[in-house]
Amino acid sequence: SAVDGGGSSIGGEDIKFSVMVSLFQWIQKSKSSAQKRSKFRKFLDAFCRKPQDNFAAMRLILPGLDRERGSYGLKEHVLATCLIDALAMSRDSDDARRLLNWRKGGPKTGSNAGNFSLVAAEVLQRRQGMASAGLTIKELNGFLDHLASSENRAEKTSILSDLIRKTNAQEMKWIVMIILKDLKLGISEKSIFHEFHPDAEDLFNVTCDLKLVCEKLRDRSQRHKRQDIEVGKAVRPQLALRVSNASAAWKKLHGKEVVVECKFDGDRIQIHKNNSDLNFFSRNFFDHQEYAHGMSDVITQNILVNKCILDGEMLVWDASMNRFAEFGSNQEIAKAAREGLDSDRQLCYIAFDILYVGDTSVIHRSLKERQEILQKVVKPIKGRLEILVPNGGLNAHRPSGEPCWSIIAHSVDDVDKFFKETVENRDEGIVLKDLTSKWEPSDRSGKWLKLKPEYVRAGSDLDVLIIGGYYGSGRHGGEVAQFLVGLAERPAPNTYPRRFISFCRVGTGVSDEERNTIVTRLKPYFRKYEYPKQAPPTFYQVTNNAKERPDVWVESPEKSIIVSITSDIRTIRTEVFAAPYSLRFPRIDRVRYDKPWHECLDVQSFVDLVHSSNGT
Ligand code: ATP
Repeated sequence: SAVDGGGSSIGGEDIKFSVMVSLFQWIQKSKSSAQKRSKFRKFLDAFCRKPQDNFAAMRLILPGLDRERGSYGLKEHVLATCLIDALAMSRDSDDARRLLNWRKGGPKTGSNAGNFSLVAAEVLQRRQGMASAGLTIKELNGFLDHLASSENRAEKTSILSDLIRKTNAQEMKWIVMIILKDLKLGISEKSIFHEFHPDAEDLFNVTCDLKLVCEKLRDRSQRHKRQDIEVGKAVRPQLALRVSNASAAWKKLHGKEVVVECKFDGDRIQIHKNNSDLNFFSRNFFDHQEYAHGMSDVITQNILVNKCILDGEMLVWDASMNRFAEFGSNQEIAKAAREGLDSDRQLCYIAFDILYVGDTSVIHRSLKERQEILQKVVKPIKGRLEILVPNGGLNAHRPSGEPCWSIIAHSVDDVDKFFKETVENRDEGIVLKDLTSKWEPSDRSGKWLKLKPEYVRAGSDLDVLIIGGYYGSGRHGGEVAQFLVGLAERPAPNTYPRRFISFCRVGTGVSDEERNTIVTRLKPYFRKYEYPKQAPPTFYQVTNNAKERPDVWVESPEKSIIVSITSDIRTIRTEVFAAPYSLRFPRIDRVRYDKPWHECLDVQSFVDLVHSSNGT
């Protein structure tokens, strides 16, 4: 626009960055929210005189919300290496090690460990002067634009070294925080918006466009008419409130018509369709155009209106396994689609809501009505484009064989049953929604509730013993394809364990060849097991849950093999297995033929490990 083009009208040419640094420090130091807000107000009144100054300043205060420049490609570690080079430091120097090991704390980092900008400030202080060179915020924004558009590390390093020359240590510390998009000011984005203009937050929620907000709301005394959502502009998502159990959820929605859905573990994505133009906005309003590869045809052909906004989750469907792949493979599969690689795995979008159709926003309609519209607008394609509506919709069956990923709940028991099934399927949890509610940007007041099993972190690899096997299907039919592994009951000192507690089921992580080797070695000791006629061998402790029961048991633990397993850092409380916790998405990391059976991890050590690490 003309505003960007003309050099002097960008804004911020009359505001020294040092002034903003003082503001940041004041805000950080102030105790009360009212004080913080009034400092900010005074800054706006005294320094942002031209309309363009507002955006120039606001994008530095709320760097996480600015989408006018691309990403810097500078997370802490890369930023550390660039700063080391920009400061012409040796990589082996104490300060370089401090920067690179900012998390742990390098030599004498002391209490700054874990806070990159403080570690950086400490290093910069030894190398930069105290005097400010008078950098303006217009100049700073120019540098940051270059930093975002530069292609490689060498260029970024050279821009940082220019910046270091034009700033003092104090200023540079704040620039580092701006680059990392976290100023730690202790004032919420909400307060900043409210102080800026009473309608700023509302307008931002439906446009996700900070520049537009600053331009439209330049006059604080003039109220802005409430704006509706529009196609092509990201809108901040409706959020779910966390509840701790089914009855709390039921109580909260009492008397309401309630739908309970599986909580899919993918990427929250809004698809905006404007004829052939597509946007894939994430929760943080980045447009993930990489999802267009392999998805755009499916979407343009199977969404039956020219303009709409869908709300849903992007996942990966594994056609050979006939199930959704575990979380974390979206980017890899998007990349494979871009490169035209053939794979059993493909992106699959699950639309659970619709926000806009044709030329009208429908967020004010009830969820029930929106679901009806959704069914008219989207033609589902199995494993590619699915819709989530009660008692139907999704073409794929759940791994348990259950056809429904979404039900209308009539009682707390319905909710509880659905939740238990979901957790046993190792899905992430459930979402309950009030069917009469409208969809509201950025709202977490409880129209949607989420219920997840309790997760705890497990740290390192776990050495566990194979105690049973499950037959595979398809390609692996008739052969043991997955294993039941166990933890040892802690033995008395200087003795071997005598009992093993079932822990989790694991199949992935090893190649077919490695699996065959394990199966061949254990085959002589596999014993078929017919439930409920036969009891499992007495040295195994199991629950009565059908999901756990293996098809074969390893006849005696001394004959078995230890495997190292890892998991998606999350451990879940379980009722399916005999151990108190199980792993979510466990993988075999290594087969430990070198470890004797009795060196299996014991339950107590495992529980200690879980408790000693941070819960999430
Ligand atoms: P979480 O880490 O629990 O996903 P969050 O803060 O990202 O939390 P919340 O609004 O609290 O998001 O929880 C809802 C999230 O769950 C959505 O953002 C979406 O990504 C995901 N989700 C998965 N399945 C559904 C569903 N059926 N309905 C709504 N949200 C769903």
